[in-house]
Amino acid sequence: MEGFSVEEALERVLRLTSEANRWRLRETVNLIASENVMSPLAVKAYMSDFMYRYAEGKPFKRYYQGTRYIDELEVFTTEIISRLLKTEYVELRPISGTIANASVFRVLADPGDSAVIAPVQAGAHVSHTKFGTLGALGIRHVEMPYDAENMNVDVDGAVKLIEEVRPKFAVLGGSVYLFPHPVREIADAIHSVGGKLVYDAAHVLGLIVGGVWRNPLEHGADAMTASTHKTFPGPQGGLIAFTDKALYKKVSKTIFPWFLSNHHLHRIPALAVTALEMAKYGHEYAKAIVENARHFAESLAAEGFEVIGERLGYTRSHQVLIDVRKQGRGAKAAKMLEEANIIVNKNLLPWDPPEAVKDPSGLRLGVQEVTRWGMGKGEMEEVARLMAEVLIKGRDPQEVRKKVVEFRKEYTKINYSLEGDLETILDLTL
Ligand SMILES: *Cc1c(COP(=O)(O)O)cnc(C)c1O
Repeated sequence: MEGFSVEEALERVLRLTSEANRWRLRETVNLIASENVMSPLAVKAYMSDFMYRYAEGKPFKRYYQGTRYIDELEVFTTEIISRLLKTEYVELRPISGTIANASVFRVLADPGDSAVIAPVQAGAHVSHTKFGTLGALGIRHVEMPYDAENMNVDVDGAVKLIEEVRPKFAVLGGSVYLFPHPVREIADAIHSVGGKLVYDAAHVLGLIVGGVWRNPLEHGADAMTASTHKTFPGPQGGLIAFTDKALYKKVSKTIFPWFLSNHHLHRIPALAVTALEMAKYGHEYAKAIVENARHFAESLAAEGFEVIGERLGYTRSHQVLIDVRKQGRGAKAAKMLEEANIIVNKNLLPWDPPEAVKDPSGLRLGVQEVTRWGMGKGEMEEVARLMAEVLIKGRDPQEVRKKVVEFRKEYTKINYSLEGDLETILDLTL
């Protein structure tokens, strides 16, 4: 290449990648609520020949040859996930939570139809809104009213709205998600007008599998979409589980070719390994996550932070929300914490207008990843202390960073995971 050294370029690419690995996996405390890490065994299963292949269509009915192993593996993984979610109808092909939502929304409604969604203040994801996937599909976005006192959907208002609008479907579940949405009440209301309930479990799939968050499929949801890499610590991707067989069949028939061609086959064995880890350790893991979140919230409050939801017990999920208006608002606070190697995201709080998205009042903190690295209550107190040093006590973030790097050195093992030196038995990676 003219004026361009391949060797230098290569050095730069590899350096950026390995530095990112060291920084994010070894030196930072990651509190991004939508992320997690896979176990070494799942990573090994991820790095397979499947990453080079296509398998359009459904198992054993593909448009390509050479698919006999992925056929069997996809059917078997579907069975494992079905057992965890207690429903027969599972679709693993969505390559992300957003694609899962698009696939279900499009089957349930035509352009011009309406959907009633949870209020943005109660955590609805952008893909549920007119600004995102719902809007791109031409489906009308009607928002349920918000109950500020309970930081949740206003149930009576939502039921009335559903009776008036008679939408094709309603959506619950969210991204900023401290307390469970009222699934049964909204399911009854939407069913009474002939619509369906979609529950978006992107954030809480791991908590549902671990039995510490209500499984919406057992409380009236017709479909549950999810990401497989948030509290469920698998490969980046999506899935859909259904109680409604007819809906399952329609989505399964249209997801290819409407929303994907390749479904990124190498996700499937990694998803299966993670599902087996969750079958074995999921309850213990999920329980530790919600206990850590609650204790983290209490520790942050004790350090002088304004933690959201005190009256309601702060949180029942993996997330904690703090109001940092006194610390210079979300953008600045998040940046200062990053300088100290504590990674968080700025977030709108219920009173923020949507325009405040670039510099909102709050920070969203998730403890699912640090829990997987083996942190418990004492560590939650320590992280709260380190955050207070930066944001309340005005210490130099660069100085705090040294402490964070030192603190992080203890946590090098991914917990709640299956070990196994399968290399000696199977050549998984070649
Ligand atoms: C993260 C998220 C999604 C999108 O998932 P991707 O896998 O990133 O596409 C959808 N819904 C909710 C509620 C989310 O939090």
